[in-house]
Amino acid sequence: MNENTAAGVISSQFMKSYMNGQNEVKNADRDVKEMLSLEKGRLKNFGLDLKKEYTERGLMASGSDVRIKHSRHYVHTTNVKTTSAETTVSRDGKKLYGKKENESFYTYVTDSLNYTEDGTTPYCCPNCGAVSTVNELQEGCSYCGTRFRISELFPKVSYYFSQYDPSATEGELKKDILKNMLIVFGIELVLLLFILFNGGNIIEFIFQLFLAVVIAVLLGYSIWAFKKLGKLFFEAGRSVTMLPMLKSMNEFKKKMKEIDPDFDMDYFVFKTVSYVRMIMFSDDNTLLPFFKGKKVDRYTDVLDAAFRGGIKFRKYEIKDGVLKLDMDLFMSCLHYVNGKVIKRDDTVLLKMEKDLSIPTDYDFSISQFKCKNCGGSYNGYKETKCPYCGSEIEVSAYDWTITDID
Ligand SMILES: [Zn+2]
Ligand SMILES: [Zn+2]
Repeated sequence: MNENTAAGVISSQFMKSYMNGQNEVKNADRDVKEMLSLEKGRLKNFGLDLKKEYTERGLMASGSDVRIKHSRHYVHTTNVKTTSAETTVSRDGKKLYGKKENESFYTYVTDSLNYTEDGTTPYCCPNCGAVSTVNELQEGCSYCGTRFRISELFPKVSYYFSQYDPSATEGELKKDILKNMLIVFGIELVLLLFILFNGGNIIEFIFQLFLAVVIAVLLGYSIWAFKKLGKLFFEAGRSVTMLPMLKSMNEFKKKMKEIDPDFDMDYFVFKTVSYVRMIMFSDDNTLLPFFKGKKVDRYTDVLDAAFRGGIKFRKYEIKDGVLKLDMDLFMSCLHYVNGKVIKRDDTVLLKMEKDLSIPTDYDFSISQFKCKNCGGSYNGYKETKCPYCGSEIEVSAYDWTITDID
């Protein structure tokens, strides 16, 4: 089977189960489930209900698999879907917030290259979260006893995020223009009928009706263009902080490629946005193994967080082989303030670092953390120390960590 199609299907199933708010999200990695449980916990604390309704919009990019990468055991595919997303927040059945916006839904889908012969690959039990192997899980998890078919284990979504998308399809544009024309014509018709029934002439009425159609077409289009222009100005104002980032993002990518030929921008963005969302949704972010900074309280009212597609790299330095990055991440978040749900753009100030002597491991997962000391695997979100030898969890020995956030 074509792996592109497989990733597209997996990501569709994931998106559907995610928007339906099902307790068990389909095809999700343990890392994704850890993030979802934090999000759910936040909503539960406030007694709120958040629903996302995604409808695929069928742009060219929709459902396309942008990137495929192979690593030791897995193949990773980035899938993008253009959607219309309706977000509703309610409390005790009363609607507090509702908005429909275009969003791109990004998923990073992981499939196993060789699960038939390599059953010893560590795998986090989808039921209890304990780490065993692909073979063991097919026999029955040694911790909770649940048995899985291989199709339930792979492929899976390892990262996901949604991104605000200002583009519209041709069909949507036409529909919008037609709507404006019809509104103008409707008003004209009411006026003309009023004149007709108050002693107007039927011949004059028919003539005026033709004229009304012409006016409706011209005026309807002008109104549409005017509104579009206004919106464009508004969007431009909204994006003004992101303009310099495009250049700096390319420069960063180029620089990173020089420092680390393995560097992959997509993967970096997926990881960074996911980590930031986890910090936002966690009530005690110091418990997150990839976060080395002080406790952050700035985001305790965040209900939903979408990426705005921008990262601005402020500066970086390399000290003792460790790369330190200073950057801004542009997010768009729903905040719960004094009983009201407010959408706001947030600039997240972020400091990250990575030991450059460690090659990028695209298979790295905190929920399947491999102990550097004894080689045992465990779920780093559940245990802070290796259950086999007692060593402290050390994410920086493998991957990026976040050292500060504001
Ligand atoms: Zn289990
Ligand atoms: Zn150990």
